[in-house]
Parts: sequence; C-alpha cells; structure tokens
Amino acid sequence: MAKNKVYIIDVTNRDGVQTAKLGLAKLEKTMINIYLNEMGIYQSEFGFPVTRHENNYLNANLELAKMGLLKPIILSGWIRAIEEDVDEATRLTRVKHLNLSISTSEQMLRGKFEGRKTREDIIRMMTDACDRAREKGIETFGVNAEDASRTDNEFLIRFSQAAKDHGACRIRYCDTLGYDDPFTIYERVKLLAQEVKLPVELHCHNDLGLAVACSVAGAKAAIDAGVDAYINTTVNGMGERCGNADLVSVILAIKKAKGFENRYVLDERVKLSCAWKIAKYASYAFGVPIPINQPAVGSNAFAHESGIHADGALKDRRNYELYDFEELGRGEPEIIETGRQITAGEYSGIKGFRNVYGKLEIEFKNDEEAREILELARYANVHTQKPLTDGELRFIAQYPEQARKIMTVTP
Ligand SMILES: [Zn+2]
Repeated sequence: MAKNKVYIIDVTNRDGVQTAKLGLAKLEKTMINIYLNEMGIYQSEFGFPVTRHENNYLNANLELAKMGLLKPIILSGWIRAIEEDVDEATRLTRVKHLNLSISTSEQMLRGKFEGRKTREDIIRMMTDACDRAREKGIETFGVNAEDASRTDNEFLIRFSQAAKDHGACRIRYCDTLGYDDPFTIYERVKLLAQEVKLPVELHCHNDLGLAVACSVAGAKAAIDAGVDAYINTTVNGMGERCGNADLVSVILAIKKAKGFENRYVLDERVKLSCAWKIAKYASYAFGVPIPINQPAVGSNAFAHESGIHADGALKDRRNYELYDFEELGRGEPEIIETGRQITAGEYSGIKGFRNVYGKLEIEFKNDEEAREILELARYANVHTQKPLTDGELRFIAQYPEQARKIMTVTP
C-alpha cells in the first residue's frame, strides 16, 4: 500500500458560493466550516480575504479556530497571486493560510490578459506573491494554476517548479472548464508530480460529468508518482456552472471503488458518518434540493422496489448495496412536527423563543442573557431569511460574540 495519502480541501465556501444565482449567508458559511471540521476534513477554503464583506466572517471564524471550535481544520483564504492581494489579505484579516491563484494557459494569456502578460510575467507575479506571503508570516500557501488542463506540460512544470522554489506547499491543478477526462488528467498529473515532486491538489469541474472521476484519477496519479494528493470538493457538488467534485462522492470513491479500496489511503480523520448531516444542511442553506439519485445521500440511494432487487436486498444487503446507509449517518427517523410549531424568527418574542431553546435543552442564566440571545437570533433570521436550524440556534447561544461579528456587514 502506498504511504502517501489523499486529503480533502473543501471549497464550498469559496467556489461553491460562486455558483450563479445562489449564495450562502455568513452564518451559513460558518456552519459549513463547523460541519466540515466535525467531519474531519483537512482544510476549508473559507472565503475571500480581500473582499470587504467577508472580513468580519473570516476573522470571527479564525477566532473560533483559536477557541477550539474550528480545530483542527485549516482555514485558508483564496486570493489572486499578486503582491497587492497578499498585502490586503494580511492587512484586513488574520488569515494564516492562503491559496494564490493565477491563470497559466495560452487561452487565458490571450483571452483574459489580452496579450499584456507573457509567460515569464505570470511566473514572476506568482513568485513575487509567494515571497510576499512568506514575508507576511503566512504559514502555508498553495499555488493555483488556473486552467491548468489547457496549459502545456512544459510550462506547467516550469510554473510549478518556480512555485515550489518559492515556498508553495502544493500546486493546484485546476481543470477550470471541466475539460479533462480521467485518462488525460492521470497522465498529466503523474508527469507533473514526477518532475516537480510537489504535492498536487486536484480541482475539477463537472461540465462533462467527470469531476469526481477526474479528481480521483488525478489523486491516484499523484500518489503513484510518490507525493500526497489533495482533492478539492464542495458539498453536494455546488459550484460554478455544472459544479465541482461532490464531497461525499469523492470520499466514497476513494474508500469503496474497486481500484482504490485498500490501495489508496484517505486521510483517516475523515468521518463518513457526517455525510448525511452536512449534505442536508448545505441543501437547506443553498435552497437546492438533493436529487433523489444523488450518490449516498439521495432519497433513492437505498431504495429498492423491483421484485428481484428488493428480495435480494432483504436477504443480504450486500446483494444490491455497495455500502451501508448507517456509515453515512443515515437511518435515524426524522421528526417532522405536524401540529403546533413555535419557531424563532426576526419578530419572535421572549416566551416563544425560550420554548424553542427549551426544546434544544439550552438554558439561560437569566432573563438578560435570554434577551441578548433572542436579539441575536432575530438578527440571524434577518440575515439568513430562513427559519433557523437547531445547529444555528445552538451556535448563536454558545458563541454570541462571534455570531454577532459574523452577521456584521458594514458597507
Ligand atoms: Zn473552480
């Protein structure tokens, strides 16, 4: 068995929220970080440090990390690979981990920079940004080669070597357009990893329906070449256009697929049992239902109806199920209130509010504390514009100072 491992860097709070027509409130982004941490995910790319409306959210989440709630997950910010962004990111936030992004393909050089930048300019901007990140005390940073899948091998290797020489801990191979297939990405990542000997991050999009397949094929290539692999995922595959690689599917593929099981090692801290909870929450927060046939968490993932299949599944679940619903945290009955409901919203009063928190078995020291939390919960409801979940209510009651900061956006 290979000694190198596959780690997950979830990008729901960066790429996922770039999904057109959709977004997450800062409180919802915070809950995603909390659930990713509970799930044992290595790193969350949690936002944009140079975007002003993210600053309070980012700094409050960094405080939650210090307080132990967001630990051991690594929180990293995404910026452009230019010195100015490093300066701004470190001036506006206390972020200690960064991803520095720049386009590397001829298409982008021509189409995006309109011929104003040469390949040498791209390398110089990136290495200057790396040097600045180190000067500013950034603990780890990866370099993103945007549109790597349309960048020729020679330049991609030279670019990645320069990133390594200037202190990058990883190179992110971005299949920005979802153009790769599992065979091409395997070949290219293997060559890259062999030449540069730098851990590779796979960032794949789903325009051809291949994001998960390409991610695991790229990870296999990195490990076969003797370096660690990091896969970028999003919860429920949310992301620009047709989305990114789905978190739960990637985990399952590495743990259960024929060629991976017992051969390639996923970061042992990952708890698949949190899959159901995080997928349900992201669906609620984005307002996007989980398709019934979504791997593992779709409502049909363990449903059998046809005679032979139902009979077979009842005799032995292994006849027609590759993995168990219990492993995913499924199987508990869900209670849906069909009678009277008291909910906590932006116009709630103290009595109803205490009732709601009472059901969660959260008690307040006194009326003053109850009123303070009520006020915050009202704001939270204004902020998310949806009924607050039990998890959100709990978070607000336990971390009121951080909740207040997260919800504070001053234009
Ligand atoms: Zn992307």
